[in-house]
Amino acid sequence: MANADTDTKNAAKQEQEQEQEQQQLYTSRVVLTTYPSQLGIDPIPLSWGASSAEERGPVVVSRQKDSFGRRNAIGAGGGSYCIYRALAVAIGALTPSHRPDFRLTEPTHSIGPFPAWSDPEKIVSMDPWGHAIVDHFSEQLDQGIDIRPTIAITQAHMKLAEIDDAIDKGILRCDGDVVTKSGELKVVKVASEPVWHLPGVAKRFGINEATLRRALFEDTGGMYPELITRPDLKVFLPPIGGLTVYIFGNPAHIPDPTKRLTMRVHDECNGSDVFGSDICTCKPYLIYSIEECAREAQNGGVGVVVYFRKEGRALGEVTKYLVYNARKRQEGGDTAANYFKRTEFVAGVKDMRFQALMPDILHWLGVKRIDRFISMSNMKYEAIVGSGIEIVERVSIPEERMPADSKVEIEAKIADGYFTSGEVPTEEDLKTTKGRNWDEIAH
Ligand SMILES: [Zn+2]
Repeated sequence: MANADTDTKNAAKQEQEQEQEQQQLYTSRVVLTTYPSQLGIDPIPLSWGASSAEERGPVVVSRQKDSFGRRNAIGAGGGSYCIYRALAVAIGALTPSHRPDFRLTEPTHSIGPFPAWSDPEKIVSMDPWGHAIVDHFSEQLDQGIDIRPTIAITQAHMKLAEIDDAIDKGILRCDGDVVTKSGELKVVKVASEPVWHLPGVAKRFGINEATLRRALFEDTGGMYPELITRPDLKVFLPPIGGLTVYIFGNPAHIPDPTKRLTMRVHDECNGSDVFGSDICTCKPYLIYSIEECAREAQNGGVGVVVYFRKEGRALGEVTKYLVYNARKRQEGGDTAANYFKRTEFVAGVKDMRFQALMPDILHWLGVKRIDRFISMSNMKYEAIVGSGIEIVERVSIPEERMPADSKVEIEAKIADGYFTSGEVPTEEDLKTTKGRNWDEIAH
């Protein structure tokens, strides 16, 4: 009995301590959601697509003390990394009231503003002023409002074994400018986190805003009740990955109609891009496009690679591996004819990248015309052309650069309508194009 008593006492003590700890981090009252008419709720006006940053207003999503009532966006900053920030706060590594010191963080290169920045329909999935909050919203920052950048612009050198190889083979030359004498690529990089203007996103997909809000609420496990209770807040920062832009050559050439532009829009494939898996053509495409972009820059134009964090056609890597297994184990082996079917069996759809929002970044960069588009994706092509950007030439990867096991994917995609400068495979071809079988992979 004595032991049980001590246990109860200890448990009570522990609970009390935990409560105290929580109270040190947060106020005792938990605000599960807010309502437009609630006392103390007074969002900073946000006019999406206004002609200047000042008229548009800053995006404020912070729940910090001085910002909570002035929030004009739903969700959390940092994309998917908001969870790690929460962990840092919970374990005491970060105070919840921490504010970034923005000194010396300003962009290395100036981009824009372009007319699309103040067009409410051209850019709906990022904040066009996200890199310039210190320039435009210093007044609100001084008032204690917690505004965070959602875009950053920097510069770097890239050293890649494949580029060394291309230099050795004479495919690419070291001009001392785009490619340094020691074979490094000079690059300007832009990182962007997602900022969705919900009415614009809904319109892009041809659905109504209420349906979009409900779906986002349900499929995030009810994480953001304000999607439902705050119809007055039109901006949502979703907990998803963002994108990176790699610019080869002068970024000022991108909107210049007298300069040529080579571009690739690449969706993440960690297995191939980083680890060299040979079941698909992702890395060969990426490397080929980097070479072509560098070459365009050396010829006086500019090259751009946009890298989206949409792993495994935005189905994620777990789904992707399940599909790999099913493809290899199915009766008749891994054929191009059944390539998409296996993805649909597991995921319900064959692709969740839905390229409708993708052209936003191109409009942010001031792209008007793409002279060489390094991609075979009909979805990317149609989204870009449909958004008002001209594509002069579509370029697919040279056949000799395709890994043997990736033929299944390539043929299936071409048969499904993807672009090719070569032949479209017949039904019979699709049945006979086979990937490596399971026994050959086993180890
Ligand atoms: Zn891949």
